[in-house]
Amino acid sequence: MTDHRHDAFARLALGAMVVLSMIKLLTADDPVTLQRERMVSEQIASRAVRNPDVLRVMRATPRHLFVPIAIRSMAYEDHPLPLGYGATISQPYIVALMTQLLRPNQGQRALEIGTGSGYQAAILAQLVRHVYTIEIVPELAQSAARTLRELGYSNITVRQGDGYKGWPEEAPFDAIIITAAPLELPRTLIEQLSKGGRLVAPVGSMWQQDLILIEKKADGSITRRSAGAVNFVPMRPDAK
Ligand code: SAH
Repeated sequence: MTDHRHDAFARLALGAMVVLSMIKLLTADDPVTLQRERMVSEQIASRAVRNPDVLRVMRATPRHLFVPIAIRSMAYEDHPLPLGYGATISQPYIVALMTQLLRPNQGQRALEIGTGSGYQAAILAQLVRHVYTIEIVPELAQSAARTLRELGYSNITVRQGDGYKGWPEEAPFDAIIITAAPLELPRTLIEQLSKGGRLVAPVGSMWQQDLILIEKKADGSITRRSAGAVNFVPMRPDAK
């Protein structure tokens, strides 16, 4: 009798230990996976970003590794974060929305202006063939290139330079994303968009910007629409 009770107790204890270690694995082992799940369901899918590929890469990409260590714990919150040098990593929802607006596919070559942390480039690179990205601040260009290399993103080329000039050697691009706000859409960048291509950019003053979507039709004509109000850091004017 005593032995039986002892057995039952031992089995119960063992069972409890197994359950506890499973809970530990699911929570403590990779808390960022859960944070990303919540980010996607609560901040992104709930706000009408429905492209399954965009949601998949937002779930898979370690956003916390793109932000300064001191603010890593805030990486999955519903707002932008400072990167230093006047740059910010955009709110997760805005990254997802802009990516969806580009209608990315695996055949495309994309240009990004404003590399910042490299996060938006990493998201886009998982959905297109190659991303070319230009950052004006040398320190940010270097650290983003390092982060992207260390994380194994091999289809992204980072260049330090002035985004107003675009990347003429690699143009035209099927998708162009500008992640700093110019006062007017730079003509050079529209010229570097392929026929059938899409460009998305925040356009306006420091305090008031519209997220503009440009489509270049097969005959070269342009359509333009606004996808709502946004708040980006200003694009630094052309040095020359
Ligand atoms: N896409 C970035 C966030 C960009 S913040 C990310 O995912 O983290 C805007 C960036 O644009 C800043 O890093 C800023 O330095 C850069 N920038 C501003 N003006 C620019 C210009 N004329 N050419 C290239 N980059 C510019």
